[in-house]
Amino acid sequence: MDCKKAENLVSAYINKNMSLHDLREFLAHIKSCSSCYDELQTYYMVYFAMEHLENGDSDRSYNMNTVLLEDLKHRERYVRREMIKRWILVVGCILLVLLVPLLMLF
Ligand SMILES: [Zn+2]
Repeated sequence: MDCKKAENLVSAYINKNMSLHDLREFLAHIKSCSSCYDELQTYYMVYFAMEHLENGDSDRSYNMNTVLLEDLKHRERYVRREMIKRWILVVGCILLVLLVPLLMLF
């Protein structure tokens, strides 16, 4: 993924509105590109601040860096879980395709 695509996906990331494939590539890009990470951090801070002001939660102070890092970790775990689920599904289908003809022999 290049910077232009990553920048276009920042709002999708914040709104949790992107495909698993895009999310996976986006996370990989953000990890290795400090300029896109900074961009994400800026938008994330604005979004987070607005959300918490709306909820009347402005008294608490947050370490935005930690909040974003936690969110990134959370989404990485999500991607890993989803990839494992898909892998299990594929392996299950392959086993089924292999086993059905075998069962028909008996
Ligand atoms: Zn970039």
